[in-house]
Amino acid sequence: MNGDLIAVLNPATEEVVTQIRLADLADTDRAIARAEAAYAGWRTVAPADRAALLRAFAAAVDADLENLARLEVAGAGHTIGNARWEAGNVRDVLEYYSAAPERNFGRQIPVAGGINVTFQESLGVVGIIVPWNFPMPIAGWGFAPALAAGNTVVLKPAELTPLTAIRLGELALEAGIPEGVFQVLPGKGSVVGNRFVTHPAVRKVVFTGSTAVGTRIMAGCAEQVKAVTLELGGKSANIIFDDADLELAAAAAPGGAFDNAGQDCCARSRILVQRGAYERFMELLEPAVREFSVGDPLDENTAMGPLISRSQWETVSSFVPDDTEVAFRGSAPSGPGHWFAPTVLTPGIHSRAWREEIFGPVVSVVPFSDEAEAIALANDSDYGLSGSIWSRDIGRALRTARGVESGNLSVNSHSSVRYSTPFGGFKKSGLGRELGPDALDAFTETKNVFIAL
Ligand code: NAP
Ligand code: MG
Repeated sequence: MNGDLIAVLNPATEEVVTQIRLADLADTDRAIARAEAAYAGWRTVAPADRAALLRAFAAAVDADLENLARLEVAGAGHTIGNARWEAGNVRDVLEYYSAAPERNFGRQIPVAGGINVTFQESLGVVGIIVPWNFPMPIAGWGFAPALAAGNTVVLKPAELTPLTAIRLGELALEAGIPEGVFQVLPGKGSVVGNRFVTHPAVRKVVFTGSTAVGTRIMAGCAEQVKAVTLELGGKSANIIFDDADLELAAAAAPGGAFDNAGQDCCARSRILVQRGAYERFMELLEPAVREFSVGDPLDENTAMGPLISRSQWETVSSFVPDDTEVAFRGSAPSGPGHWFAPTVLTPGIHSRAWREEIFGPVVSVVPFSDEAEAIALANDSDYGLSGSIWSRDIGRALRTARGVESGNLSVNSHSSVRYSTPFGGFKKSGLGRELGPDALDAFTETKNVFIAL
């Protein structure tokens, strides 16, 4: 790597964890050339052998799980519990898609005069661009199915959080994944990420990040009619009806909004409460927010760590200027580290806090009258990534789930991402789906072959 050296900082202490050499344009072109050269070999590895290599990669991740988790705590400020889950998620996603090479079926379609079969062909080199908020899982949701389908992968982690991606690249090699098949290139979005878009040998770009950058990536890919999957921002609604188990809904709301310090594209950052339950819900929410423990990410009892950077802290703070009426606040450490106390607002529906993605531990609560108004308020957003519905009436919960324009909804819970189910957004939250049984569709082309008899 020939590019600049950058320091990776610990968000909880602002101390330098290590320094990383960034890839420059020439490094990126060389890596893409290596990925192109490795493709012919990788796509022809026997399906069972490719499966075995992915299982070996999963086992290597599992053996390194505690190290990976501690790297994420140091370099991204994640709580140790979350970081262990995240490393375990990479292992599980690799295991899940290790079954795919031997099940990458085509079809036999009845036609006159011959036999017609389809093949799911791999694409070639896939470029994956990852944000800083969930460095490990988001990388794995891309590279595991991409590799399973027979593609080679170049992966660019976010500049702020390259450590776990670099380690995953080493583990892949240790597990026997051939050189050039999976390469990790820490570098700038404008250099490395943009090269994935402009280089003709990269046949697909998987981008997770902001809607602003994603829009430009899609426009860039259009120049070469290059396939793209986009996982973008969110402003998800947590809809609480008056017949819900309010104790449960209030106890779960802080986790739904403040997990990973609210730096979660699926954060339920808009809470909608039916008028009849509003007062009681707020009474229950207040102690739950005050008890949400913010502090040392290595302490097993910590629920929330710091924000990723000073710049993110400033962005989040801009949504809560000094004259803001705050309903209530939790607490956070002072001193070094990008700490921000969990904050509950009761803003108007035209405010920035209600409309824009904050990507920090700030949640807004607004009342509604009936089911129709709840759905209308939830849909009054450019985004449509996730959301939750709390009700004891299963008909009402399902009607609302069908009414909300969003890719991932959960009833009486805040669950969002399971590797065995599809994940992705409506509207400006994205394009395409990751994970689940159909993920290989995003990493293959269908080829139709007719054989005359
Ligand atoms: P971002 O600024 O869009 O960056 C995301 C990634 O894109 C980083 O690796 C970045 O590199 C790279 N990048 C920046 N400019 C680029 C360009 N011109 N060409 C190619 N790549 C470029 O987003 P962020 O601020 O890191 O992440 C927060 C956003 O991501 C939020 O809006 C959040 O909702 C969204 N997100 C969505 C999901 C989802 O699954 N839907 C998941 C997580 C996050 P650098 O490191 O150099 O900036
Ligand atoms: Mg950015």
